[in-house]
Amino acid sequence: MASRKPSVRHPSHNHPLRGHKAQAEEELICSGCDLDLIGAAFKCTKSECDYFLHKSCFELPRENRHKSHPDHPLTLLYTPPYESSTYTCDACGEYGSGFVYNCSVCQCDVHVGCVSMPETVEREGHAHPLTLLYRSPYQNGLIFHCDECHETVPDNLWSYYCKECDYGTHLHSCAVEEKEEPKRGGGGNGNTSKNNGGRGSASSELAAMLEAQREMEMMQIQLDMEMQRAKMAKKARKACLKLI
Ligand SMILES: [Zn+2]
Ligand SMILES: [Zn+2]
Ligand SMILES: [Zn+2]
Ligand SMILES: [Zn+2]
Ligand SMILES: [Zn+2]
Ligand SMILES: [Zn+2]
Repeated sequence: MASRKPSVRHPSHNHPLRGHKAQAEEELICSGCDLDLIGAAFKCTKSECDYFLHKSCFELPRENRHKSHPDHPLTLLYTPPYESSTYTCDACGEYGSGFVYNCSVCQCDVHVGCVSMPETVEREGHAHPLTLLYRSPYQNGLIFHCDECHETVPDNLWSYYCKECDYGTHLHSCAVEEKEEPKRGGGGNGNTSKNNGGRGSASSELAAMLEAQREMEMMQIQLDMEMQRAKMAKKARKACLKLI
């Protein structure tokens, strides 16, 4: 008989999922946000199925009232609502193929990772915190060049900006990637990513954020399940009492 670890359902997938502590070496990708999967996660119980979710992606609210889109709530869709099964994120301009926060009225699509970008960030190479804008800093027809990678940023994409210095960047850190050695390749403490992490790609920035979240969530995963079971047991008991 197989061991009966508790399994849970998620509406994005039609097999039951089970808690999984994802290790970096496994090089897994979250089926929700398409980013690296490390730490507390869920895994499909079917061995032949490669479906994984961050715990944080598992718990994303179905509806998100986001400042970037004040007129309508954004709805979490588990697959892009387009024939191509992909979408272009209106925040960062990149493609997406997993979960998406969508407004069907405006055909607005935002990565679940982009939706949770903080309102201010510290960036290496700039002394002040940068503020998140849901458009280019320039609304007077001036073309906005990212001060990090010097590329033109389309007017409609989100950006981070320091008004004091007129310094702005893409939403995700984009310092020219010089084909960094994979962090975990070099042996030693590959975890000192803080030092060179500032230049990190969008995904490493997000990963760091998610990781911090995960640390706390690690233990909760079990707890939650215990609680759920306890609740159910309680309900059952109540129901029994009623019958008496
Ligand atoms: Zn994820
Ligand atoms: Zn599955
Ligand atoms: Zn995006
Ligand atoms: Zn809308
Ligand atoms: Zn840039
Ligand atoms: Zn500044």
